[in-house]
Amino acid sequence: MSVRVATAMQSDQPHIALLPSAGMGHLTPFLRLATLLVRRHCRVTLITTHPTVSLSESRLVSRFLSAFPQVTQLPFHLLPLDPSTANSTDPFYLQFETIRRSAHLLSPLLATLSPPLHALISDVSLISSVIPVAETLHLPNYLLFTSSARMFAFFSYFPTFASKSGDDPATFGDVKIPGLTPIPRSSFPPLLLIPDNLFGKIFREDGCEVNKLNGFLVNTFEGLEAESLETLNGGKVLKGLPSVFPVGPFPPCEFERGDCGDQLKWLDEQPAGSVVYVSFGSRTAMSRDQIREVGDGLIKSGCRFLWVVKDKKVDKEEEEGLDEVVGLELMERMKAKGLVVKKWVDQPQILGHSSVGGFVSHCGWNSVIEAAWHGVPILAWPQIGDQKINAELVEASGLGIWVTSWGWAEEVVVKGDEIGERIREMMGSELLRGQAARIREEARKAFGDGGSVGITFKQLIEEWKASN
Ligand code: UDP
Ligand code: UDP
Repeated sequence: MSVRVATAMQSDQPHIALLPSAGMGHLTPFLRLATLLVRRHCRVTLITTHPTVSLSESRLVSRFLSAFPQVTQLPFHLLPLDPSTANSTDPFYLQFETIRRSAHLLSPLLATLSPPLHALISDVSLISSVIPVAETLHLPNYLLFTSSARMFAFFSYFPTFASKSGDDPATFGDVKIPGLTPIPRSSFPPLLLIPDNLFGKIFREDGCEVNKLNGFLVNTFEGLEAESLETLNGGKVLKGLPSVFPVGPFPPCEFERGDCGDQLKWLDEQPAGSVVYVSFGSRTAMSRDQIREVGDGLIKSGCRFLWVVKDKKVDKEEEEGLDEVVGLELMERMKAKGLVVKKWVDQPQILGHSSVGGFVSHCGWNSVIEAAWHGVPILAWPQIGDQKINAELVEASGLGIWVTSWGWAEEVVVKGDEIGERIREMMGSELLRGQAARIREEARKAFGDGGSVGITFKQLIEEWKASN
């Protein structure tokens, strides 16, 4: 290839900067998006915030950068935050706020990038702090929304809804958007119903600004979320809302692969579809009482199981072993049918294993999409945040079942008998298996040749090229 042709091709590549906020549930989809952009010949700059909250985040960033040496890393050193000024004790929310308060430092950093950027794609908790940066640099400003399109409809409509209700959480009713199955008050992220907290503040400040962005990327697809996508792009949520691009499903990537030899070996020895996999994501710590009921429920289900126990919100703080957290006696009783671990596992590989037949999940959006990708039925057990809104969708799409009476984490301690019964129901349902398999087909079709993922990225890339 001649030098002139090569240079022309390079200058034809859109240069995109990605800015994830905090937590694996945010970082993972950003890195999967980066992978898809690199494969489509985009030049990618990854803005990495320092320090990170969890070890899993820093490890995943390292693995990603080693796998993709062509990606530019732009280190972003955060200003220290005095937590007493932020109204939250959650380390991940505090990190959102730290990044927001440091965001002005990004303009000079981004301005020096060469070739110049075609677009910035940032995370949901950063919207209002990134807008001035994008405006200063005349940079098209996009959002990768890391939850469902249904949650995005809720998020964009929330300021209108709240002001109609006099901005008083006590008077909030259900959210009714034309074309969208109503979202009951009981499904709202609980922190939105409590005055004066950081989550609610960020949510409100950002929700008002969505019309100032150029577009929204969501890790979802028509086969799963036709209703929300139609409502959002039909102008029913907010007049003038920029386009929502369904860029999913994002398939799990090679660089994420961790060492899970022990679990895979154990799974290899179990009959096809016989194992229920139980995990509540990367940042949900269950109460000790609830952990013990889960163990009891797994035994009572009579099924084989692979259970990932988490005792602390942030991985660096995990200290005690399984014998202390679960209890020696219960650990002993579980040996016959299950494998219990207390560490980071490679969830996508586990969900993709043929012996896994069901997933007890908190319905973090990445977990839902990974289950859809592998066609694994879900027993939804939302714990915090957006997870009930995602669980509504899991149930409505046929991907899973949801016992609404189980409530949010720590509202009630759900008893082992009930957990066991529901697990049996999920694992025994031929109907659910069929529905999950159909959703898997839809997911693979969207990602495959001629599918919506390719078409949507082509459209976005044309839009970015035209912007320069
Ligand atoms: N995950 C994993 N191993 C673990 C825990 C979590 O691979 O031990 C991954 C999971 O596959 C998903 C992400 O971490 O990609 C968690 O994101 P999700 O949106 O499901 O939930 P969150 O952790 O944000 O609550
Ligand atoms: N969220 C939002 N705006 C915010 C913070 C959160 O819209 O300022 C939404 C978003 O969909 C996010 C969800 O609330 O995925 C739950 O947020 P959280 O950080 O609690 O959970 P995570 O996504 O880390 O699992």
